[in-house]
Amino acid sequence: MQIHQVGGLGFDSNIYLIIDEVIALVDAGTGMNFDRVRRNLLKFGVRTDDVDLLINTHCHYDHIGGDHDFISASGCQVAIHELEVEALRNADPEVTLANAFGASLEPIEPTRELRDGDRIELGEVTLEVLHTPGHTRGSICLYDRERRVLFSGDTVFCDGVGRTDLPTGDSAAMVRSLRRLKELGVRRLLPGHGATTDVRGGECIGAALDSITNLWQIGPMG
Ligand SMILES: [Zn+2]
Ligand SMILES: [Zn+2]
Repeated sequence: MQIHQVGGLGFDSNIYLIIDEVIALVDAGTGMNFDRVRRNLLKFGVRTDDVDLLINTHCHYDHIGGDHDFISASGCQVAIHELEVEALRNADPEVTLANAFGASLEPIEPTRELRDGDRIELGEVTLEVLHTPGHTRGSICLYDRERRVLFSGDTVFCDGVGRTDLPTGDSAAMVRSLRRLKELGVRRLLPGHGATTDVRGGECIGAALDSITNLWQIGPMG
C-alpha cells in the first residue's frame, strides 16, 4: 500500500492517491490543473482510467471540481457523506462555493453515500468514515486506525483549524469534531490543504482545538 500527494496546485485541494487493491483518491481538486494531476499520477504508474474510487471529504469546489474529469476518464465510483449529496447533485453554486471560485459546476451523481462508522475496504487498508461536521455539515475524515493515519479534509490542518463561517459551517460542531479526533491518537495527518506530517498529527489536532476554544474565550469579551 502506498499513499502519495498528487494535488495542491493553485486553488486545488491536496489530492491523495492510495495505491492498494483498489486505486482510490481522496479529493479531486478544482479540475483546473487536471493535466498536472494526471502527470503526477503517472509518476506512480497510475493512469486516470485506473482510478476505482474517488472519496470527497466534503462538497467544496476546490475538492470536487475535478470529480468530472475522473468520472469521465475512468467511470470511477464517487463517495461522499450523505449530507453533502444534495449539493453535488444540484451543483449548488453557493454551498459548493463554485460561485466564490468564479466557476460553473455540472451536477455530480455520487454512487456511494457515506455515514459515520462506514468502513471503506481498499485491500490492505481499511478507512473508517468519521463524520466531523464544522467546516461543512457533512465533512468527513477518513481514518486508518491500524497505521494511525488521518485524512482530515478541511476540518484540521497541520497549522490550524478549518473555517466555520462558510455555508453550513458550525463552530460548536467543529469543537466537538476536534475533541473526537484528539482522542484517536493520530500520527500521520494528511489534510486538505498545505503541509502533511508523518508523526505530529495528534499535536496539530490539539493545537487546532486550543486555537478555536481560545478564540471563544476571547470572543464575548472583545
Ligand atoms: Zn478546501
Ligand atoms: Zn472546504
